[in-house]
Amino acid sequence: MSDSVTTTFSDLNAGKSKLINPTLVLNCGSSSIKYALISEDESTRITGLAENLGLDTARIKHTTLNGEKLEITIPGGRHELALQKILALLEQYDFIAVGHRGVHGGREYSEAVRVDEHVLSEVKRLKVLAPLHNPANALGIEAVQAIYPEIPQVVVFDTAFHQTMPAVAYRYPLPKSLYEEHKIRRYGFHGTSHAYVSERASEITSAKGSHGWLTAHLGNGCSATAVYDGESLDTSMGLTPLEGLMMGTRCGDIDPSLHIHLKRQLGMSLEEIDKMLNSESGLLGISGLSNDLRTIEQAANEGHKDAQLAIEMFCYRVGKYLASLSCALPEFTGIVFTGGIGENSATTRASILTVMRHFGIQFDEDKNASLVGGAEGSLHTEDSSIELWVIPTDEECQIAKETRQTLGLD
Ligand code: ADP
Repeated sequence: MSDSVTTTFSDLNAGKSKLINPTLVLNCGSSSIKYALISEDESTRITGLAENLGLDTARIKHTTLNGEKLEITIPGGRHELALQKILALLEQYDFIAVGHRGVHGGREYSEAVRVDEHVLSEVKRLKVLAPLHNPANALGIEAVQAIYPEIPQVVVFDTAFHQTMPAVAYRYPLPKSLYEEHKIRRYGFHGTSHAYVSERASEITSAKGSHGWLTAHLGNGCSATAVYDGESLDTSMGLTPLEGLMMGTRCGDIDPSLHIHLKRQLGMSLEEIDKMLNSESGLLGISGLSNDLRTIEQAANEGHKDAQLAIEMFCYRVGKYLASLSCALPEFTGIVFTGGIGENSATTRASILTVMRHFGIQFDEDKNASLVGGAEGSLHTEDSSIELWVIPTDEECQIAKETRQTLGLD
């Protein structure tokens, strides 16, 4: 390791005693792996990110227990090598379980599940529904199995939280056989985040009785969910994470006839269209600048018309979706904002709430402005029809918790 460490560190062991019975959380994506080692009481953690996997610039950015940062370069390194290095870095902390973020669990999994051969084969089989993510999840499971066969592993699927949706929300108005024979239905994603922030909102609200939340996870990927009494009743993403809100590079809802139109008129192939809708659309497509809202906000402030339109469209579409999702809730307690945009952009939150102007929503501008950079709190005023919260998401913590619960360790 020392040959490739570009930032030095003094004492990897500092604070080790606080990291009691830790769970390792792995989030293996198509070109990155996020990881966190979280103590049993959730108060202490080590975090890191392996990025640019497969490229010359592949590297691991690791933050030690005492907050020191180190970087390990692994030129050309793929998932297997990165996982070996990550496990070597964390070996000394004696983790007792591993929880994986699984993206697609199909219809099979409505809760977190302990890994066995069947679960692993299902993760691989479901790659038809999540081609970028499920194979990476499987690699993560196998890397841990190879080095620590005795450590129990759990998969927490992004789709699991939404398995409580009723048929009226999860079915598409398509021929029945597509659902029955080919599992074509709405699944929903970001379940771990929606579960975490809705549970947290129910802990901190003073509202009595059952709670109905609209949770808006606004990051690079964006989705909104209607959660009642802790259960997802409807959500904006569907069979794949392309449906729903406008996102960083994804278009969200569009006319399904666009594919045939582009094929006929421009001669585009299905693959080209798919790439365009997933990687070249959304905030990036409209602004022509970036998928990063910070860049777009700055350009908009300087008078860039396309940047201004991108922000307006984003907020209009989120507001319109939240308004329609409110129909799923028997009672509407409030809205929870989370994700990089939801947690940091007060102007975006304000514009979204302004789009929903018929709902009797009132918010305090100073409170809204203060809720940035990881702060948790409310922005509604006393006379608002519903509550408004900003709650930073913590998917790693939720995965660690569900992993411990699944294994009976809590
Ligand atoms: P991911 O979906 O990749 O996890 P994040 O939840 O980190 O993404 O969100 C990334 C988005 O959050 C980007 O569009 C980024 O511009 C936006 N964001 C982060 N910080 C700020 C900020 N201070 N102001 C506005 N937008 C922000």
